[in-house]
Amino acid sequence: MRNGRDADMTTIAFIGLGNMGAGMAANLAKAGHDVAAFDISEDALEVAKANGCRIAESGADAVKGAEAVVTMLPAGKHVRAVYLDDVFDHAEPGTLLLDCSTIDVATARDVGEQAAAKGFLMVDAPVSGGIAAAAGGTLTFMVGGTDKAFERAEPILDVMGKAVIHAGESGAGQAAKICNNMLLGATMIATCETFNLAQSLGLDPQTFFDISSKASGQSWSMTSYCPVPGVGPDSPADNDYEGGFAAPLMLKDLKLAMEAADEAGMRTPMGAKARALYEQFVKNGGEKKDFSGIIEFLERSSIDG
Ligand code: NAD
Repeated sequence: MRNGRDADMTTIAFIGLGNMGAGMAANLAKAGHDVAAFDISEDALEVAKANGCRIAESGADAVKGAEAVVTMLPAGKHVRAVYLDDVFDHAEPGTLLLDCSTIDVATARDVGEQAAAKGFLMVDAPVSGGIAAAAGGTLTFMVGGTDKAFERAEPILDVMGKAVIHAGESGAGQAAKICNNMLLGATMIATCETFNLAQSLGLDPQTFFDISSKASGQSWSMTSYCPVPGVGPDSPADNDYEGGFAAPLMLKDLKLAMEAADEAGMRTPMGAKARALYEQFVKNGGEKKDFSGIIEFLERSSIDG
C-alpha cells in the first residue's frame, strides 16, 4: 500500500480495451482501483477514459509503477508481443501479470516461463462468458499458475467475475478453456443435426425437447441454449441467432483445441469435424451469427446435398 491510499486500492495496468477489455477495465475502475489503460485504438481509449480509467501513452507507460498488469488481447502473437516488448522490460519484478485473452496453450506456457524467469508472478486466466458478462462483472475465470500467483490474482479477478477457478499450473487455464469449448462445439453440432433430423422425421421440436431433455441425449446445448426458436429457455435462436457467442470465436477456440491436440499427439476426430463444420459455416453466412445458428447451415446443406 502506498501512503494515503485505500488499503484495497491497486494500481493496475490494463492493455487491450476491446469488446471484452472495455467492460473489465471499467469494473476495476468502478471498484476503486487506479487503472492505467492502453490500447492501440484511440476509440477504445476514449471509452476507457469515460469509464474512469487513466489513459497511458503506451503499453510500457501503462505498466510503469503498476502492481498488476491485465491483458485482454486477440491472439497469442499479440500477447507475446505485448509482454516481450512492453511488460517485461518496464514493469517492476514481482508485479503480478494476468493474461485473460484466449490463446494457444504453447504460447501461454512459454510467456509464463519467461515471466517466471524474470521474477514476475503470472497467470493465464481466460474467461467464459461474452461481452455482457464482461460488462456486468459476471465472467468465469479459468486460471493457470502457481498457488502463490493464484492467491494474488484471485481478488482482482473476483472484481470482474462471478467464479474464479484454479485449473493447475501455467497454461492450465487455456487448456481448460479450449477443452470445454471443443466439447461445446461438438455437442452444439450434434444437438442441431439431431433437431433437424427429428423434424424431418415428423417429430414436433417441442415434443422432442420434452423427451430428450429428460432422457440420455440431454446436454447444456439443448437445455440451456436450444438452437431451435421457441423451444427451451430464451436463447439467440429466439433472436435470429444474433448476440450470444459468435461463430468466428467458436471457430477460433476449435482451431486452438486442434493445435493443442496435434502437439499432444491426441486423436480428437469429433473436435476436428466440429472445426471443419464451423469453418464452412463462418465462410457461408455465419460470420456475424451466434454459434447455434449452425443449425440453419446444416439444414441448408442437407437439402442442397
Ligand atoms: P477485440 O478485438 O474486441 O479486442 C482486442 C483489443 O486489443 C482491441 O481493442 C485491439 O486494439 C487491442 N490490441 C491489439 N494489439 C494490441 C497491442 N499491441 N497493444 C494494445 N492493444 C492491442 O477482442 P475481444 O472480443 O475483446 O476478445 C479479447 C479476447 O477475449 C480474445 O482472446 C477472445 O478470444 C477472448 N474472448 C472473447 C469473448 C467475446 O465474446 N468477445 C468471449 C470469451 C473470450
